[in-house]
Amino acid sequence: MSKLRFRVVEKAFQTKPLEVHVPSERPSEYFAKYVFTREKMFKYLPTHVYNQMVDVMDNGVTLDRDIADKVAEGMKRWAMELGATHYTHWFQPLTEGTAEKHDAFVEHDGKGGMMEEFSGKLLVQQEPDASSFPNGGIRNTFEARGYSAWDPSSPVFVVDDTLCIPTVFIAYTGESLDYKTPLLKALRAVNKAAVDVCQYFNPDVKKVVAYLGWEQEYFLVDEGLYAARPDLLLTGRTLMGHEASKNQQLEDHYFGAIPTRVAAFMKDLEIQALELGIPVKTRHNEVAPNQFELAPIFEECNLAVDHNMLIMSLMRKVARTHGFRVLLHEKPFKGVNGSGKHNNWSLGTDTGILLMAPGKTAEENLRFITFVVNTLMAVYRHNGLLKASIMSATNAHRLGANEAPPAIISSFLGKQLSKVLDHMENSSTNELVTLSGKHGMKLDIPQIPELLIDNTDRNRTSPFAFTGNRFEFRAVGSEANCASAMIALNTAVAEQLIEFKKDVDTLIRQGESKVEAIIQVIRKYITLSKPIRFDGNGYSDEWKEEAERRGLDCETSCPLIFDRYLTDESIRMFESTGVMNKKELEARNEVKWETYTKKIQIEARVLGDLVMNHIVPIAIEYQSKLIDNVYKMKELFPADEANQLSSENIAIIRKIAEHTNYIKEHVDAMVEARKVANKITSEREKAIAYHDTISPMLERIRYHIDKLELIVDDQMWTLPKYRELLFIR
Ligand code: ADP
Ligand code: MG
Repeated sequence: MSKLRFRVVEKAFQTKPLEVHVPSERPSEYFAKYVFTREKMFKYLPTHVYNQMVDVMDNGVTLDRDIADKVAEGMKRWAMELGATHYTHWFQPLTEGTAEKHDAFVEHDGKGGMMEEFSGKLLVQQEPDASSFPNGGIRNTFEARGYSAWDPSSPVFVVDDTLCIPTVFIAYTGESLDYKTPLLKALRAVNKAAVDVCQYFNPDVKKVVAYLGWEQEYFLVDEGLYAARPDLLLTGRTLMGHEASKNQQLEDHYFGAIPTRVAAFMKDLEIQALELGIPVKTRHNEVAPNQFELAPIFEECNLAVDHNMLIMSLMRKVARTHGFRVLLHEKPFKGVNGSGKHNNWSLGTDTGILLMAPGKTAEENLRFITFVVNTLMAVYRHNGLLKASIMSATNAHRLGANEAPPAIISSFLGKQLSKVLDHMENSSTNELVTLSGKHGMKLDIPQIPELLIDNTDRNRTSPFAFTGNRFEFRAVGSEANCASAMIALNTAVAEQLIEFKKDVDTLIRQGESKVEAIIQVIRKYITLSKPIRFDGNGYSDEWKEEAERRGLDCETSCPLIFDRYLTDESIRMFESTGVMNKKELEARNEVKWETYTKKIQIEARVLGDLVMNHIVPIAIEYQSKLIDNVYKMKELFPADEANQLSSENIAIIRKIAEHTNYIKEHVDAMVEARKVANKITSEREKAIAYHDTISPMLERIRYHIDKLELIVDDQMWTLPKYRELLFIR
């Protein structure tokens, strides 16, 4: 083993778990310690201010300026008691991370001294000079102003010495430059549309909330090993590395005992997450070695998205104090499972009904079926867009590979629910509606058991599976901002519910009874949305052919999948619901293509450097050793015998030459291909060029590097190998 590798591997073996400081209180006591919750608002704000804040949070009314001043005052007092000296508007630009610019509370007091100040103005709106964030051309430099504006529906919190204020980020001209703005609009749209539909069943419903429960998968790698892998460091994934002889074949890691060093990390992370009000609940080993999962209790979607963004940065931070690096990339290692982030999604009313959960009476179940079928319709109509919403250069490694959701969106319902829908589709109206019951109707809807699907009836290959009281959108990438998927899904469902109401109302106007109208429309939708339902194996080749026949979106090229945002149907959907306009969609796509190109570009550069500095020189050095040996053999033995004795070594010498030649030639070719691609001015075309020509080259070069890894003396190989990266705790 090379000296460097030996040192880092040895250190990784010797690293002891960190002693975690566990608070003496119980989690229920320290939960949300650093969050300005309603309880704290009540304590720190005058009553009339508190009451108005509640109205702002619950009903979205606008905040008066002088009230804002009082809120800011209370917030500052609370934050300073926790040791905060700074505040920041915390927002989610179109990178996958969050952004913050800290300002101190200090101001001149006019008497030559300083005082702590934080006004309503500073709380509500800021103009960060953030012109370097991707914006797809919306902000010309001469008008580079972008505003961040407070989102009172997500509570402020304190991290270290800083009061963090969740904000939206918009251009001077009003276009959204972030994830939160369209998410809030999508949630508003689905709320309105779903309330209108709920009114058919229950006039008391005034508000419908979208819920999100994410399951975050991740890898942990020892920090020393990580530092010795420039590819991991710079791209988040290994661009080379031969599979370890043992990886996940034995399925011994999944749900296995959590290693002590990892357990200490998890404990620390959970305590800090709970203090920040993130209701983390579940942790376990995942399928791949060194892969783990963390899941909270589900929350209102906007808050859940904020909490996921927050926990990703918290994970990075806490991992480092434990001598780990957390890998959130969707596919850090070839040959073992990648990481996703299942988005468990549902709708619920302010009257406490989960709309995706079956009820006890036929009427409740009609409502349940209404929402399930409309969701299916939405997913069917926008299956290409939903795929685009989770697509990225990094998630592309996962989709379509034989382990994660396939690159075709379909929905799994399970036997029981499928049966119910089939029954509804095939029975005639007369059968369905007979007299009796509350509204003089008896619905012929089969009794649906509360727990629809037990754990055995699960389909892990489905990208959009029904799981009892929610849908699980499983194609989301581990590194992604969940908002992207949630914007597309909630908007699609909003549009669909509006359509549904129109269809039902038309029938009612034509003289049908309400229930009959609903059933008729549902029946039509069940038939129309059938192509999206698929309970079989999503990884099989037959499914790809079948999906094509069904007219589902089967595109696999990432830059082309992004086109789905700009189809007429998508633009109509986003515009009619007021979520985004065409200009915003176009700008965001520019960012997507540009980001795609940059990611592949960086990978190509890193691979080129590693090849020239690490791989080829070492392979040649080893080859020279062998050549030396061959020559010495000739000195020792008669020619014939020497040749015979050296035949194996000569074969290896030849192989090394073949591999290194291939690698060098192709790295040069890749540089040339990049030069050609870089000249393309259209971001879309450039991304396509990177996808079609450069990305496959990375794979082909890797093949030869991985072969060399198997041949070259382990003592000389400098990069930590998979067996070390994946098995050392
Ligand atoms: P599994 O791994 O079996 O899918 P987990 O317990 O790991 O389940 O995660 C399920 C996630 O789904 C959790 O975040 C949970 O809170 C969330 N969840 C449960 N019910 C709902 C619901 N009705 N709507 C949204 N999310 C839900
Ligand atoms: Mg799940």
